Amino acid sequence: MKFATRLIHGSHTIDPATGALSLPVCQTSTFAQQSVDHFGRYDYARSGNPTREALEEAIADLEGGSAAFAFGSGMAAISSTLLLFKPGDHLVVCEDVYGGAFRVLTKLFSQWGLSVTFVDATSLTAIEAAVKPETKAVYLESPSNPLLKITDLKGAAAIARKHELLTLVDSTFMTPYLQRPLELGCDIVLHSGTKFLNGHSDVVCGFAVVNNEQLAARLGFVQNAFGAILGPQDCWLTLRGLRTLKVRLEESQRSAVKIAAWLARQPQVTRVYYPGLASHPGYAVHQAQAAGPGAVLSFELESYELTKKLLEGIHLAAFAVSLGGVESILSYPAKMSHAAMPPAERAARGISDTLVRLSVGLEDTDDMIADLARLLQSG
Ligand SMILES: *Cc1c(COP(=O)(O)O)cnc(C)c1O
Repeated sequence: MKFATRLIHGSHTIDPATGALSLPVCQTSTFAQQSVDHFGRYDYARSGNPTREALEEAIADLEGGSAAFAFGSGMAAISSTLLLFKPGDHLVVCEDVYGGAFRVLTKLFSQWGLSVTFVDATSLTAIEAAVKPETKAVYLESPSNPLLKITDLKGAAAIARKHELLTLVDSTFMTPYLQRPLELGCDIVLHSGTKFLNGHSDVVCGFAVVNNEQLAARLGFVQNAFGAILGPQDCWLTLRGLRTLKVRLEESQRSAVKIAAWLARQPQVTRVYYPGLASHPGYAVHQAQAAGPGAVLSFELESYELTKKLLEGIHLAAFAVSLGGVESILSYPAKMSHAAMPPAERAARGISDTLVRLSVGLEDTDDMIADLARLLQSG
């Protein structure tokens, strides 16, 4: 079955007990047992809950994986996955990694003895050069945040395999509709489901997805032992949001392509970062590994005054942290997603004070362009 059909009919769409088209929320912490010798399928809801299982099966299926694990946030998914490693292990990480992942690696996992080398992951040579005897994994984002840099995921996974390393990919910006890293040879796909997967700016959640029984067992152990699970109500909301992933992302992406092209023609915009523009340095690599450029783009403005005016004056996008909602969201990486990064690190990564990131929602494209034009041309 094709992706759109699997979104609707992929998992547990009809409640077997009642025929309800909407799976009931199994709001329970524990499950009564019948026999001292054999416990039932569910015993305690940290270890397993039918609503969470339905969501996990849906996400695993869409990513082309054998198992998915739902967590209370994208950061909980990332942090829980990092618990697969041990003190003394080393990771090679893309330098423009999500700010929260940068923070947990450099402030918490560093204390715990996990070391990291940040590299420009647009270069496979740079990735390979950073591998040390104690390296256990390569951690990537493609497109990255907020500069939408592209990593050749198949190439990176091949290097990792050669050195017996795992490849982890935070695929939040793409979702499995546009890119499936497991099919490109990567081992663990991470998501902030808070963004496009749920898509309605009303749930914080995260996922780790694998296609390997041994990794699934290890991640399942961490999920239960560490306990950063997603609650049943949020699982249900995410299952509901997920059903429309294709139509939402198609429409937002169609609009983003138009807006990116328009922004690139504006004299007040000095640079547009979007893998859908042929001028993007990663355009060809992205086209080869993904089905579309997505609905997030960043751009640089000519002055700080105009940047401030745009962020504070926009009507049709929320000036907010986050992305991937039905409403457009304009954010300011320097003070939002990358505030956790010291200013010098930020500058070194090209995240300037005139850079803004736009997550394109489902508003009419012409209305959005008119709103942007009103502010840009006022400057
Ligand atoms: C938002 C985000 C995260 C963190 O997810 P939360 O759900 O906010 O914890 C991780 N990676 C990327 C790329 C993100 O955009």
